[in-house]
Amino acid sequence: MESRVERFCSQGKGHGLRALVPLKAGELVFTAQPYAHTVSKSAMKTTCANCFSRKETLLRCSGCKTARYCNPACQRQAWPEHKRECKCLRSLLPRIPGTLHDSVRLVARVIFRLLDPKPSPAEQLYSLVELESHVSEMGAEKMEGLEQLCTMLLLYLKEEVSDLSQLPPGLGPIDLFAKVTCNCFTISDGELKEAGVGLYPSMSLLNHDCKPNCVVMFEGVQLHLRAIQEIKALEELTISYIDVVMPSEDRKRQLQKQYHFLCKCVRCTTADKDADMLAGDEVVWRHFCDAIPRMEQLQSECQWKQLLGQCQALLGDCRGTAVPDRNVYALRLLDLAVDACVNLGQWERALEYGTRTLEPYRFYYTDAHPARAVQLMRVGKLQHYLGRLEEVRRTLRQAYDIMKVTHGSEHALVVELRRMLDECRAELGCT
Ligand SMILES: [Zn+2]
Ligand SMILES: [Zn+2]
Ligand SMILES: [Zn+2]
Repeated sequence: MESRVERFCSQGKGHGLRALVPLKAGELVFTAQPYAHTVSKSAMKTTCANCFSRKETLLRCSGCKTARYCNPACQRQAWPEHKRECKCLRSLLPRIPGTLHDSVRLVARVIFRLLDPKPSPAEQLYSLVELESHVSEMGAEKMEGLEQLCTMLLLYLKEEVSDLSQLPPGLGPIDLFAKVTCNCFTISDGELKEAGVGLYPSMSLLNHDCKPNCVVMFEGVQLHLRAIQEIKALEELTISYIDVVMPSEDRKRQLQKQYHFLCKCVRCTTADKDADMLAGDEVVWRHFCDAIPRMEQLQSECQWKQLLGQCQALLGDCRGTAVPDRNVYALRLLDLAVDACVNLGQWERALEYGTRTLEPYRFYYTDAHPARAVQLMRVGKLQHYLGRLEEVRRTLRQAYDIMKVTHGSEHALVVELRRMLDECRAELGCT
């Protein structure tokens, strides 16, 4: 594919990426393979470490008993990159190597590459050396965190690499952890479930905007950059580094903390939709806000009954108009409630909560956004399960129109969606 993008100096933001030609919404702008990547700790047991497919049963590497693969072919393909890592993981047995922080495994892979240098197409537009690290702006607390990661890294690498002084200048362990913190991409599947983390240096040129004109999605570990709006030639390409359904103050705080810049986008400077995000009785929604971390803990522990009980107790409080569903904390509770209901097999109730989220999702995600498409698909599946075919068709159609743009019409999930829509049409035709 001829290059449709180029690196440039974006005023006030340092390096950036811009379009060379006009782009249409849904157009694939760039694809990139990772410089280094690894499966996340949370997805390790269910994700092939080579192709990132999610499967119930995977073969386990007999060496480290940690990496998992679809089949011997996937294992063979991953071996060159896994070989040295395998010895490191094995050295940690019987302690569970799975408890290692994702960034430690990722930085170790970067180091293996650096010690055996080969040109990488992932550095086509921007190289690992050039990536921002912001080390000089880091406070003592953050520095201490990075030092702890370095200690873990040394312990992890000791069987394979004893001397890190051979690393190129500017790419010592602290620099690498700092670069990973502000440049790492979360590799997710089509339904936005986290599968891994990876460095795609050329794509680190993309600056952030709270109303971006592009979106990053993945097929396996390959990154796809797609336009979600019409883009003019020479216009800067942007993505969102964070979840944008957050009040502007929270977005700015998170961007400052993790990426070391102050967001001056139009949405932040005009406090766009802040009033809606924080609508309703403040005493009540502050109470929601305080309860959410505890409830997310229940979610991670799969304590569905307890989670649903607490969601119902809190959401019961806002029946009427105390806090509308558009309030970001109410919306978060609704999402947690859907998850709990689905896991408890309470379909009617799941659909009821899920349906309530759709209007706020539509309101906040005005451009094509994968999060809205995935939510529509989720609700559509519940409607299908409950036999509401007319509604299913409407909901899935909306999901499909978004996913054609964000995922592309060839994406496996979009193909599945097309199949579901056809099925639905056939069923409706029969009745
Ligand atoms: Zn595989
Ligand atoms: Zn292994
Ligand atoms: Zn912003």
